[in-house]
Amino acid sequence: MPPDLQSIVDEIVAAMATEEARGKVATYIPGLATVSPAHFGMAVVSADGSVALGGDAELPFSTQSVSKVFALTMALGKVGDQLWARVGREPSGNAFNSIVQLEAEQGIPRNPFINAGAIVVADVNLAGHQPREAIGELLRFIRFLADDEDIHVDEVIARSETETGFRNIALANYMRAFGNIHHPVERVTGVYFHQCAIAMSCLQLARAGRYLMLDGLLPDAGRVISARRARRINALMLTCGHYDASGDFAFRIGMPGKSGVGGGILAVVPGKASIAVWSPGLNASGNSQLGTKALEHFARLTGWSVFSSR
Ligand code: GLN
Repeated sequence: MPPDLQSIVDEIVAAMATEEARGKVATYIPGLATVSPAHFGMAVVSADGSVALGGDAELPFSTQSVSKVFALTMALGKVGDQLWARVGREPSGNAFNSIVQLEAEQGIPRNPFINAGAIVVADVNLAGHQPREAIGELLRFIRFLADDEDIHVDEVIARSETETGFRNIALANYMRAFGNIHHPVERVTGVYFHQCAIAMSCLQLARAGRYLMLDGLLPDAGRVISARRARRINALMLTCGHYDASGDFAFRIGMPGKSGVGGGILAVVPGKASIAVWSPGLNASGNSQLGTKALEHFARLTGWSVFSSR
């Protein structure tokens, strides 16, 4: 019998409400610092299209690095496997915003989900466009995936990141020195900061992730990407989606997942479900404390993971 997803989500929401260790809200982006750690939301969209929602599932939050999944999908659509000449596919074992490996590795970031890698992806998506158009194209793609026009850039967050994103600007400049950024740095970081500032609810995010559970095919809208590409993006989410905590996430949850410092996580069980959780308090690795815990409950209660036969 398939699990009753709504009662599982209800049970998780109730359990999360009593959690006292809720992590710390990111403060290095001033626009994020004012969000209350009391929030928790969860949305599960299953392969048959049914939806289970709990808590603040319909409240928009700053997707931050979760948007890197959609930006990567778009860049692969533009340049295909040529992308891998400029970005690696290995976990970094370092923090999301680390610069240390770039010197030894000639300005080639370890993977597309650390900041340096996502900045190269933004540079790819910028080719032939003004920054505004590149963001517009990404927004249209995400709205299409979620089948929801009401998805926007939070301009307050975008400005806040632009004013304080010295480290990301440094990463971009450093990679430009190696020839791995092809456009002026302020244009590339403009695209990157605005993409991080895309706000979505858990429901919108889980809907946007459906193509990754369905081998690249949306039943109502057709093929988004090939099955092979969907499998590869899932593989990168599993190995690199949680930075230096990716191994622990795979161990505890066993699903491809991508986190963001806004406290959101998108997780995928191929053939079964696309899941989004949100709680703004972060653990020491910059991943949602309760979001991770909630997904651990979900994996236990459903028995679902990419490493089990259920
Ligand atoms: N915008 C954030 C940054 O660049 C994204 C990081 C994240 O979500 N891990 O620092």
